[in-house]
Amino acid sequence: MLYNSTRDNAQSVEAAYAIAHGISKEGGLFVPQTVPTLTKEDFLALKNMSYVERAKYILGLFLTDFSEEELDYCAKGAYLGSFDNDLPAPLKALDDKVNILELWHGPTCAFKDLALQILPYLLTTSSKKVGDGKKTVILVATSGDTGKAALEGFKDVEGTEIMVFYPNDGVSAMQQLQMNTQKGKNVYVCAINGNFDDAQTGVKTIFTNDDIKALLSENNMEFSSANSINWGRLAPQIIYYISSYCDLMDKGEDYLKDGFNVVVPTGNFGNILAAYYARQMGAPIAKLICASNSNNVLSDFLKTGTYNRNRDFYTTISPSMDILISSNLERMLYELTGHNDKQVAAWQDALKNEGEYTVSEDVLAKLKDIFFGGFCSEAETAATIKNVFEEYGYLIDTHTAVAVSVYNDYKQETGDCRPTVIASTASPYKFANSVLEALGQTVPVNEFDAAEKLSTATKTNIPAPIAALKTSEVRFNNVCEKDDMNKVVLNHLGIK
Ligand SMILES: *Cc1c(COP(=O)(O)O)cnc(C)c1O
Repeated sequence: MLYNSTRDNAQSVEAAYAIAHGISKEGGLFVPQTVPTLTKEDFLALKNMSYVERAKYILGLFLTDFSEEELDYCAKGAYLGSFDNDLPAPLKALDDKVNILELWHGPTCAFKDLALQILPYLLTTSSKKVGDGKKTVILVATSGDTGKAALEGFKDVEGTEIMVFYPNDGVSAMQQLQMNTQKGKNVYVCAINGNFDDAQTGVKTIFTNDDIKALLSENNMEFSSANSINWGRLAPQIIYYISSYCDLMDKGEDYLKDGFNVVVPTGNFGNILAAYYARQMGAPIAKLICASNSNNVLSDFLKTGTYNRNRDFYTTISPSMDILISSNLERMLYELTGHNDKQVAAWQDALKNEGEYTVSEDVLAKLKDIFFGGFCSEAETAATIKNVFEEYGYLIDTHTAVAVSVYNDYKQETGDCRPTVIASTASPYKFANSVLEALGQTVPVNEFDAAEKLSTATKTNIPAPIAALKTSEVRFNNVCEKDDMNKVVLNHLGIK
């Protein structure tokens, strides 16, 4: 299996290269040349496997340059011992049609763990294969959850150094504390005065700056990415959508006779893109429902075909989705244009220079065939948390609530009541203040008091990694200007 860049088809590399480098040198993203498909027999075999075995099987189809032993090492290292009951992606039935895919049973209580527990294994294995012996410097821009999950995945991993940038005032108190208390010898955390898009743009600019790259190289280092622009981040996310289908098969053939829908609370378009690849591989997914918060750039795009980031940016109670530049949409456009690198590059240029682009009628029609886009307000997010808890006794976080709210709109608008999988992307305890408020409770000043109050009010348990923060030492309190990120990076690495 070879990978091309979305902006230059002449770039043709193996998985190990794509993962080790993170991004193509002209700024494009790596995409597999073809998507492997699974037969009915394959799915039946997968149904009887553990998550580790499913992971090995599915990754093996994409990472064909990895040996059986390497895949085994990566999948076991990532998925044994780090998730509650060794079940990384359990499916909980809310009622007979709606199933919640709980993706927050890992060490940082958000779905990012599903990919970031395995990425360090994939990346160090890839670096060995690509074989330049350089130290890998992982730069991360985070809207809150990626940062902690990446720090936890890469802490003390030999041959790596990890630096995380997050928007000051753009993450929840618990998210900030999770990052600033991170242990490990090779970790660094810094807030920026700016929003997530500023952090992401800053990181991408550093990645593609030839002078900085040369400086690193002279010092026997090179950059890579733990953001979902890295294929090594995206491929593991395909596993849990295939896995959810395997688990749904237990309900019998009749249940799935018209396929099922998947709902994803979306920011950078990484998680939903993984669901798209699962669909391409043969999982009988009907509609992909793309749910946004007030930063509704994607739902507008899916309706009109115009992607326009020139709009107000809102800080919401679902901060991990406060994004106006959804990086992975680039991969989707590459797929839907039949791998038209020139066209994709032109749209990305327009996005960079004018802040908008409009896709062709043909691409818009394809998008509408596969996706439904919707968004909900802050009040709707809060009301959904309350309603779901009152109706089902089930507590969801602010991001999952956006997905449920948009799903309800979708059902109302279309009457489609096929079985559905809703990706639940975070534990409610990461956003205890907002969740308490949504339930109509007063919110204590201290975030741990809030977590305890939420626990008492809902008779649910505080996840151990969140409870442990209370006594963890704060190690970082750095803040920088968004234009100084490059200096901060060189400084930290000890390069002048
Ligand atoms: C990152 C994140 C999202 C958005 O996922 P994308 O892959 O960026 O679309 C949604 N919910 C939570 C809790 C997240 O951490």
